[in-house]
Amino acid sequence: MAYVITQRCCNDASCVPECPVDCIRPTPEQPEFATTEQLYIDPDTCIDCGACVDACPVDAIFSEDDLLASLARFSDINAAYFKRHPLESNFDPLVTPARPSKDLGTLRVAIVGAGPAACYAADELLRRADVEVEMFDRLPTPYGLVRAGVAPDHPGTKNVSSMFESAFRRETLQYHLNVEVGKHISHEELVAHHHAVIYAVGASTDRRLDVPGEDLPGSHSATEFVAWYNGHPDYADRTFDLSGERAVIVGNGNVALDVARVLTLPPEELAKTDIADHALDALRQSNIREVVVLGRRGPLQAAYTSSEFLALGHLKGVDVVIDSAELELDPESLALLNDSDIEPSQKLKYELAREYAAESPDPANKRIVFRYLASPTAITGDNHVEAITFAHNELVSENGVLVARASGETATLSASLVLRSIGYRGQPVGDLPFDQRSGTVPNEHGRVVADGSHLPGIYVSGWIKRGPRGVIGSNRVDATETVEQLLADFTSGKLQAPQGDRAALKSLLAGRQPDLVDRAGWKAIDAAERGAGKSGGRPRVKLTSREDLLKAARG
Ligand code: NAP
Repeated sequence: MAYVITQRCCNDASCVPECPVDCIRPTPEQPEFATTEQLYIDPDTCIDCGACVDACPVDAIFSEDDLLASLARFSDINAAYFKRHPLESNFDPLVTPARPSKDLGTLRVAIVGAGPAACYAADELLRRADVEVEMFDRLPTPYGLVRAGVAPDHPGTKNVSSMFESAFRRETLQYHLNVEVGKHISHEELVAHHHAVIYAVGASTDRRLDVPGEDLPGSHSATEFVAWYNGHPDYADRTFDLSGERAVIVGNGNVALDVARVLTLPPEELAKTDIADHALDALRQSNIREVVVLGRRGPLQAAYTSSEFLALGHLKGVDVVIDSAELELDPESLALLNDSDIEPSQKLKYELAREYAAESPDPANKRIVFRYLASPTAITGDNHVEAITFAHNELVSENGVLVARASGETATLSASLVLRSIGYRGQPVGDLPFDQRSGTVPNEHGRVVADGSHLPGIYVSGWIKRGPRGVIGSNRVDATETVEQLLADFTSGKLQAPQGDRAALKSLLAGRQPDLVDRAGWKAIDAAERGAGKSGGRPRVKLTSREDLLKAARG
C-alpha cells in the first residue's frame, strides 16, 4: 500500500522534505516543478509512514486503501508520473539555511497584501529571521484569493489558511487590514518604517477579449463572477442574469471550470459551502441548464489541469458533454499524443475528453459542454447578450508552440450570459516600474528592478512578480526565493535601518485609519462568520459588506 496525492494538491511542497524515503516529485529544485500540475508519490518507494499526510496543508494525500471512488484514479496518475520520470533519489542532506546574525538586530518588513503570496512570504520570514512583519491589506479580511478566489466547493484548498493562522499567532506579525497603501499610508512612509517592503498584491483585474459587444449587459469577466460568489465586498452588489438556459464561458483554464461548476451544481450542494448568501439565492433562481466552455486551442492544449477536468465527471446532476468531432487532432497534436515522452497529465486530458465524448448524457441533468478551437469574434444582442459568434480555429506552430489561427469558418450560439475567463492581469503598483505586456513589476528573483538596477529594499512576490499562473502553493517556492534575496541584502548591509519603529507605525496608522482591523478584529470577524455557519452545517456564512465586516471586527 502507498500514499497517493490527489486533486487538491496545492504544490506548496510542504510534503517533500517530510518524506523519509524522498519519494515525492517533482521537488522545487527540479525543472519540472515549474509546470507540474501537482506533486506525485512513487508507489514503489513509499513506505506508507504517513509523514506527508501530516505535512499537507490542504488534505490532498490519502492512503491508497482509503481513496474515495472519485479519487481512485489518482493511484494510476501518481504511478504514471514515475514511468515518465523514474525516481532518482540522492538523499542529499537537508541544509538548514543560515539565519542573519543577531547583531544585525530585528529586521522590520512590510508586506503589502495578505493573500497566499504574502502569507507564504511572512511565514518564511518568521522561520528564517528575528523579524517584525507588518502585513497590510485594503480589505478588512486576510487571505486574498484563498477567501475570494478558491471555489466554495473546494473547502480543502481553503485549509491552507489554518496553516497561516497557526504560524501567525505570535505578536511578531501584525495585521493592518482595511488599510490601503497609497491612501492611508504612502510607499515612502512604508519605506521609512521598515528595512524592506514586499509587494504581494496579486493580479487584481482581468484580461479583455477586445471583441464587439464585450461590454453588453450580460457579458462579464469570470473574475467579477468569482469575486461575487465568494462574497468579496467590492463585488457583493453585482448582478448576473441567470434567467436564460445557456451560459458561455470563454477560456478553458481552471477558473473556467470553477465557474462552470458553480453555475451547474445543485444549489443544495452549494448550500453546504461558504458561498456568499446573495449568490446562493441567485443560483437557486437560476434557469441555466447548459454551460458551454470555449477553448481557443485543441483538447491537448486545454489550460485546465487534468485533475480538475477529471473531477467534473463526478459532479452530482451534471454531465460533461463533448462531441467526438471536437477531438479530431491536427497532425502535430496527434504526433505529440503518440510521443512516448508526452507528460502523462497532458495525455490524460485527452483520454478523459474521449471518455466524456463516449458517454450518453442524461436529459434530466445539467450539462457542461466543451468546445475546442473556437475564438469569439462578437457578442451580440439588443441591449443585452443574446448570442456569441466565434471563429473556428486551426493550430499553427509559432516558435515551437501551437497557437490558434482563425480558419475563416464561424458559428453562432445563443446565450444570455457570457463570462470571459481568459486570465487575471496585474495592475501598476504606485510608482514602481511596471511591464504592461506581462502585467508584472520587473524583478530579478523578487528584487524590484528599475533602469537596470535593484531598487534597494523593495521586493515582489506572487502573481505581481511572476504573472497570474500556478496554484495557491506555487507561491511558497516563489516567496522563499524573494525572502532569500531580502535576507541576503539584510545580511550584507544593503538595507537602510528604519527611521520609525512599530510604535511609530501604529500611531501613524491610528491617525490615518480609525477603522483599521487588527488581529483581534479579524478574529472577531472569523468567529462571527463561523458562528453564523454552525446551525446550517456550513464552514462559515461570509459577511459581504465592509459595514458588516467592520461591525463584527468591533465585536
Ligand atoms: P489560465 O489557466 O491562464 O487560462 C486562461 C485561458 O484563457 C486559456 O484557456 C487561454 O487559452 C484562454 N485565453 C487567453 N486569452 C484568450 C483570448 N484572447 N481568447 C480566447 N481565449 C483566451 O487562467 P485562469 O483559468 O484564470 O487560472 C489562473 C491560474 O490559477 C492558473 O494557473 C490556474 O491553474 C490557477 N487556478 C487553479 C485552480 C485549481 O487548482 N482548482 C482554480 C482556479 C485557478 P490559451 O491556453 O490558448 O492561452
